[in-house]
Amino acid sequence: MSDRDALLHRTAEIAAEFIDGLPARPVGRPVDLTALRAALDVPLPDGPSDPQAVIEALARGADPGVIATAGPRYFGFVIGGGVPAALAADWLASAWDQNAALYAVSPAASVVEEVAARWLVELFGLPQGSSVGFVTGATMATFTALAAGRHRVLERAGWNIEEDGYVGAPPIEVVVGDEAHVTVFVSLQMLGLGRNRVHKVASDGQGRMMPASLREVLAGIDGPTLVSAQSGNVNTGGFDPLEEIVPIVRERPNAWLHVDGAFGLWAAANPATRPLMSGIEMLDSWAVDGHKWLNVPHDSGYVFCAHPVAHAAAMAHSAAYLTGQGQGGLRSPGDFVMESSRRARGFATWAALRELGRSGVADLVERCCALARRFAHQLGSIDGVMVVNDVVLNQVLVSFGDDRRTDLVVEQVQRSGECWMGATTWHGQRLMRISVSNSSTTEADVDRSVTAIRNAHHAVTTPS
Ligand SMILES: *Cc1c(COP(=O)(O)O)cnc(C)c1O
Repeated sequence: MSDRDALLHRTAEIAAEFIDGLPARPVGRPVDLTALRAALDVPLPDGPSDPQAVIEALARGADPGVIATAGPRYFGFVIGGGVPAALAADWLASAWDQNAALYAVSPAASVVEEVAARWLVELFGLPQGSSVGFVTGATMATFTALAAGRHRVLERAGWNIEEDGYVGAPPIEVVVGDEAHVTVFVSLQMLGLGRNRVHKVASDGQGRMMPASLREVLAGIDGPTLVSAQSGNVNTGGFDPLEEIVPIVRERPNAWLHVDGAFGLWAAANPATRPLMSGIEMLDSWAVDGHKWLNVPHDSGYVFCAHPVAHAAAMAHSAAYLTGQGQGGLRSPGDFVMESSRRARGFATWAALRELGRSGVADLVERCCALARRFAHQLGSIDGVMVVNDVVLNQVLVSFGDDRRTDLVVEQVQRSGECWMGATTWHGQRLMRISVSNSSTTEADVDRSVTAIRNAHHAVTTPS
């Protein structure tokens, strides 16, 4: 075995040990920052080191600071996990070291993206022929989609934003729900549309955009308009009612309708939850993450656009796509994303979809939703504990009486190492937020976590 073979085998062994150990590993544990730094912060080496010694030092030094987010009892944020074939394909992407910028530099990366793109469009039931960009995550997906929308609405107003910039351009109105994710505003800030000059639509008790409020907001503005809706509120899991929103937006002569479905869009791939996304096929663009609910490794997100020419006009480096001079109808992957050289992240997506299949994806979504309901049912039956949202998807919001008590329970649960969930503020109230999005989570994991929460609640409410 060559030294390099030995290194790769040893690295695979370290990775496998880590993954095998995930269910038993304390989920969140106090990290000693000083010790973490001390283990990793050596002076810049003057000369070369043995690669295997480097990896051993990295694995040993980083381990105390590695959170078990990939494990079955991490319920913070919406973090996902890794289905086996996706993880392995991601390793291959590194070994092959393909550059997914152009067909010419990696025909394999290009074709795999093309196939995975078609599978995704089919799975979500989006319009055939929608363009797809493989991006780093939902933030870049929404950025890309809104850039495409910006192109399209300004083009209709007689302006080429890519060629001529904003100076002198007709103003664009931006409409978002008042529960829009913070990353939508990040996209607007990067697009030069501003975080503050948006029009906000009121939402209901579950964080869903209210159609009557949307109608009212739109009645007060005119000109080129971008509307961004949401499927899957990060707190409640609630869905904006697309079926009602679409006709309201379509009454306008020049509006683009986008949806941020970072995790919620996966509801469309599961027959039981698909009704939550009814109307999905009538939008102009969609953003969704692979690294969240599909359980492919970070970083992986997808942007879909019903108007490929607008999509490419906003992103492509050259006009080849637009003038039809691409290589014989060949999809050039770089035409739909901002980057030039980039990781071939399509391999992991292709592998995950091939491993799971249609029914496997539906089952992954359905199982997580069922486990969220299990959490809600068990926690809701504890005295003094209340589930405050309609558990329509994978998110559960829990109150332990008052803000202080809720924060104390969350802290105590996090310290226990049994499981990890974060706290959030929802409609002025501090709440524990539980997100079930890892394919390896079982009913036993939920039950064990409920016990940890019950114990923490007991400790906090029992005077010592
Ligand atoms: C996570 C999330 C995002 C951002 O996704 P990234 O993958 O972190 O870029 C956007 N919107 C919603 C609703 C999310 O949950």
